[in-house]
Amino acid sequence: MDLKYTRKNVYKEADGKELEAIYKYAEGYKKFLDDSKTERDACVAAEKLAVDHGFKPFSFSEKLKPGDKRYFINRHKNIFLIRVGKEDVAKDGVRIMVAHVDSPRLDLKPNPVFEDGGMCYFKTHYYGGIKKYQWLSIPLALHGVVMLPGGKRVEVCVGEDEDDPVFCITDILPHLGAEQAAKPLGKAIEGEALNAVIGGLPEVGDEEDKEAVKSAILKLLNKKYGLTEVDFQCSELCFVPAGKARDVGFDGAMISAYGHDDKVCAYPEMTAVFDLKDDRHTVVAVFADKEEIGSVGTTGMQSWVISDVIDTIANSFGANPIEVRYNSKCISADVTAGFDPAFASVFEKRNTTYVHCGAAVSKYTGARGKSNTNDAPAEYASWVRDAFDKEGVIWQIGELGAVDAGGGGTVAMYIANLGIDTIDVGVPVLSMHAPYELISKADVYSLYKACLAFCKK
Ligand code: MN
Ligand code: MN
Repeated sequence: MDLKYTRKNVYKEADGKELEAIYKYAEGYKKFLDDSKTERDACVAAEKLAVDHGFKPFSFSEKLKPGDKRYFINRHKNIFLIRVGKEDVAKDGVRIMVAHVDSPRLDLKPNPVFEDGGMCYFKTHYYGGIKKYQWLSIPLALHGVVMLPGGKRVEVCVGEDEDDPVFCITDILPHLGAEQAAKPLGKAIEGEALNAVIGGLPEVGDEEDKEAVKSAILKLLNKKYGLTEVDFQCSELCFVPAGKARDVGFDGAMISAYGHDDKVCAYPEMTAVFDLKDDRHTVVAVFADKEEIGSVGTTGMQSWVISDVIDTIANSFGANPIEVRYNSKCISADVTAGFDPAFASVFEKRNTTYVHCGAAVSKYTGARGKSNTNDAPAEYASWVRDAFDKEGVIWQIGELGAVDAGGGGTVAMYIANLGIDTIDVGVPVLSMHAPYELISKADVYSLYKACLAFCKK
């Protein structure tokens, strides 16, 4: 018996076979990341994989039976994967795993186009918590949809293909940056300065046209997408960092990519639902939207849609939906801040999570004295520990930073509001919310094993 607790390093514990499995799993994850820059993209990618795994579209009026595999896409931005188990759903409840697939980015404003200094720009309004300076002078891709009059949807994705152009926001040269450099980091870049260059070739022939570049760009957009300037008012377009997920380090032990928060949890919960051999429990995996701005709206986890899905499962078996919810269990799968030696002072070393040390459990999140958190009951934390330990999952526990260093929240409290035992389990991330975040391959694989263990117990 070990009297003392020591955190384990997944790479140190892994034999050759396990190491191979870790690296192989990372390849699938990187592919998913590249296909899933936005929540809309993630739903399309998940739907394809779900169909490949025999899942069929879900309906609220359907009577489900054991063995059924269903997926429900809520308004293109929030997907539910459902596997109906053999156990009595009233007594056994539903095993729920929720991760969000929206990530911080730069949304276009409703009237985004303007011309200045011989260049045409899109004006943006940032989405989620960003450090604005990180978004200047990096290649950006444009993703999203534009709705044309009459309801025609036009999908836009520019900047991901090798032959595509990219977009960029400019920064001042250091030679003229003295005034900027003297400002605090959070104030050095104004939100209204986040305008991306989208063109520079003027329309020739009309000497009176003071916005000849804008005219040329609108002509080009009209030709390619059939849109006019006013159509931006019914669109959802955003800039995200261009480019693919890349291995980091000579050994490729880690992955740099946009949007690990929270695709690094969405991918494990999804693949666990696909790969689960145990057919006893009813399992639901959710890709949530709007987490980065408070889990609001019809596609955020504060909406009743998850309750409606559980009710539909309950009603299929004539079970009381209240009883089903109270017997359900949830993993709120979201990232946490991994220990970063460069910024050691904001962490408390004994109670933080470390890269390569496995799935990261947070009993609570929150800020200022645990405000705004689901603090998982010890009894439920114990149930989860037993589930992980039984399957040999390497996991760790920690807080998001030192006391009063800041804090953060997840969707856990909204699931808990439904009377469902919930705990946060995720992956430690470095450079969280930066255009390129860093994670360990060992940790994303550990979370996959944790999700499988949760669905098995
Ligand atoms: Mn997150
Ligand atoms: Mn986040």
